[in-house]
Order: sequence, then structure tokens, then C-alpha cells
Amino acid sequence: MESGRQSYEMADVDLLPLVQEVVETFAVGTTKHDLQIETHVPSTLARGDSDKLKQVLMNLIGNAVKYSPEGGTVTIGFRATPKHLVVDITDQGLGIPKDALSKLFSKFYRIDNSDRRKIGGTGLGLAICKEIVKAHDGEITVQSELGVGSTFSIHLPREEKRILEPALAEAAATSEQPRLFIIE
Ligand code: ATP
Ligand code: MG
Repeated sequence: MESGRQSYEMADVDLLPLVQEVVETFAVGTTKHDLQIETHVPSTLARGDSDKLKQVLMNLIGNAVKYSPEGGTVTIGFRATPKHLVVDITDQGLGIPKDALSKLFSKFYRIDNSDRRKIGGTGLGLAICKEIVKAHDGEITVQSELGVGSTFSIHLPREEKRILEPALAEAAATSEQPRLFIIE
């Protein structure tokens, strides 16, 4: 895969339609999962390369579906920190053993046990995700409990020069004419 930073086309990208598109591709497939999208933010704009971010979402949502049982819920939630838009992808799946967490993002690493041996994959998805998110000056984190489920979170810089401070964001959300506070 092309991963040179120079091949990234950065723009303000609305991640909500991107997530909807990815969810749609799984929903029209054979998945028996309940895929839900939750937004807790007034804006889902981030700074990034839309194709690359779609690739990240495809793998993380794909993993959530692949490593959780049929009938399980996969939730994709948006939240914001002062500088970042965060996308949380939560599943009710197999979970990840503690000793595996640090190796998860290495190339070709796959957790190997009898439950998982029949699930196909190359072990490259998360390594590629990490590289792409890093090239965005972002971060990818994971929280997991074995047998309960996992949450993978993508932290991305908010849209350029439009970082809404929480108090101002609230004021903007409640005023009749929505205003955007631009902080230089
Ligand atoms: P592919 O290259 O096709 O994505 P993969 O899914 O095996 O293959 P990664 O996406 O890199 O590779 O994931 C690495 C490993 O991490 C997986 O093999 C699996 O063991 C574990 N894993 C990833 N996501 C989850 C998840 N949501 N729940 C439980 N285990 C997971
Ligand atoms: Mg994968």
C-alpha cells in the first residue's frame, strides 16, 4: 500500500457520511450484526484524507464485525476533545488478552487461539490503520476486556482552524442562528 505522507490529500472531511457509507457496505453484505451510529458532537468534521480514513474505518468496523458474534451490536460513536474528533468503535466480541494489546498494531500479528483460528485475515489491517492515523498527527487507542468486547478509538485533528471550545460549542448549539467560533 502507498503510505508515503506525500500521497495524502488533506482536507476538511465530514466523517459521518463516511461512517454511514462503510456501515452500508457491511449492512448490504451478509452481516447479522446490529450496526449503530451515535453522534454526541455538533460537528463531525476532521482534517484528513477521506480515502485513507475510509480504509481505517473499513478495517476497524470490519474487525468489530469479524471478531464478535452474530446478533451482537457494533456501535460507532463520535465525541470531541478540545483538539480532536474521536471515533469510538465498540463491539461485544471476543475481546483481547492484556498481553496481546501491545502487539496488536504490529504487522502480521494475529491472536492465535482455538476460537479465532477459523477467522481469516492477514494481520495487516491494524498496522495499516496505525500508520494512516499517525500520518494525520492522530492516535489510535484500544480498550478491551476478554470475553466482553473491545473499543478502538481514532483521535483525529479537528477541521482546520475551527476548534470549538466546549463552552463556545454549547453556546453555538443553543443559539438560534448557529455560529462558528474560529480560534486562531
Ligand atoms: P486483516 O489484515 O485482514 O485486517 P486481521 O483482521 O487478522 O487481518 P488486524 O486487523 O491487524 O488483522 O487485527 C490483528 C488481530 O487483532 C486480529 O487477528 C485479531 O486477533 C485481533 N483483533 C482486531 N480487532 C479485534 C476486535 N475488535 N476484537 C477482538 N480481536 C481483535
Ligand atoms: Mg482486520
